[in-house]
Amino acid sequence: MHKILPPLHEIFQKILQEHPETVSWKGQNINNSGLFCAAAADMADALLQDCEKDGFIPALRQAVYDEKLEPNSFIFIGALYALAAARMMERGDAAFAQRLAEEAIAYSQFDIFAQNIVLKANHALDPATRSFEDTEAWLKTRFCMFPFTMLETTTSGEFYRCCPSYVPMPIGTMDAPDLQSVLNSPAAQAIRESILDGSFKYCSKLQCPVIGSRSLMSREEGLAKLAELGEYPEEVTFSHDASCNLSCPSCRTHRVVIPKDEQDKFDSLSERLLVPLMNHAKRISICGSGDPFASIHFRNLLINYCKNASEKARKLALQTNGVLLDRKAWDAVGLDGHVKEILISIDAATEETYAVVRRDGNFKRLHENLRFLSDMRRAGAFDIFTTRFVVQQINFREMPEFVRQGKALGVDCIQFSQLRNWGTFSPEDYAGQSITAREHPEHQAFLDMLKDPIFDDPIVWLGNIDNFRVRAA
Ligand code: SF4
Repeated sequence: MHKILPPLHEIFQKILQEHPETVSWKGQNINNSGLFCAAAADMADALLQDCEKDGFIPALRQAVYDEKLEPNSFIFIGALYALAAARMMERGDAAFAQRLAEEAIAYSQFDIFAQNIVLKANHALDPATRSFEDTEAWLKTRFCMFPFTMLETTTSGEFYRCCPSYVPMPIGTMDAPDLQSVLNSPAAQAIRESILDGSFKYCSKLQCPVIGSRSLMSREEGLAKLAELGEYPEEVTFSHDASCNLSCPSCRTHRVVIPKDEQDKFDSLSERLLVPLMNHAKRISICGSGDPFASIHFRNLLINYCKNASEKARKLALQTNGVLLDRKAWDAVGLDGHVKEILISIDAATEETYAVVRRDGNFKRLHENLRFLSDMRRAGAFDIFTTRFVVQQINFREMPEFVRQGKALGVDCIQFSQLRNWGTFSPEDYAGQSITAREHPEHQAFLDMLKDPIFDDPIVWLGNIDNFRVRAA
């Protein structure tokens, strides 16, 4: 194996140089190893040679470390697994292909090529799951407005036209001289074109919850709506400040508070960029990167917006861990009349699990705040109250109880989603927590648990977990 790695690494580096658009998130991840796999296809058998199945994964890991193949060794390993997975699918070994593709995703979570192999292998192994071809055929009849209406910022200072977890291709940076050049950049146009031609080729069919739950509008409806769009995005999501009061293992390894100079930089963008975007948007989501009440920048932005907005139009959608969102914070920011939605990310139904998945959190304080928000929702102070749960090994058995707790609070929606590896888990730890992976020792218990009729409740939204329930039924 050692002999084959340097030439493969050369091909990999060449692809990265020729296609810089395939790298996102500060160069940490390649979003489509398909180009590399096509260029290196004739070397796939040599890569797989001399290795028993069980020995392949540790041998590859060791060989890459021994060869010290820098730069990008992490995403290079992911691409090698994707290459091996593609070859195993061709050979008809879906079980091994699936293991390899899951391993590729553990290294490089945005690799849509590897994600597609997982979906194809899932169906080959269990025909009760939807086939990839069926999803592609369905998408030809559907439309998604996000690439035309939505804009999201990220901690890397980039703009995206959908959640970057689902369409991991940036369309420009926050330093761009003007917004229109970003909205009409070649990448932005390519993403829109992929919706218009029905290929959805930049979309994650594994992670996107509206693809997973088959809840996209029809193509005709979408095309008709295009005529109504204005110049500015209708929906903005600000996720550029990672500051948070917690350090959840699924998100980060330590607590993050951005330094003063970075905060000043974001503050300086407020007047030129962020406030005009907020004023023109119909929905303003803050934030997908940390906590809006722990970030000084986001808190100031919200205070200014609420104080100066020309009308109380209920445009804010607040995503928070909820620990700091009490009556005092509500009043201090001046949220009355401005909030449409509140989404609380919790991931646990017991204090014991919460202590692990929400490191530095406070379960009792959270539940006091949930009761405050429940009262506010019942009083009509905002319109949509959602709780969210990222499913992993440590918490999957608490999913039914989480639904019961949400119903007792009178929430409007209870969302579930699959775990991602944001680079905070080692591949081994991620494999241990990734309960949706077929080879996980407790995967069958997860499927059995999904049979609980409580998940039929209309306020439950299984999103990208939905396909597992189809299999369990
Ligand atoms: S990933 Fe999903 S939500 Fe995003 S543009 Fe594609 S279909 Fe729409």
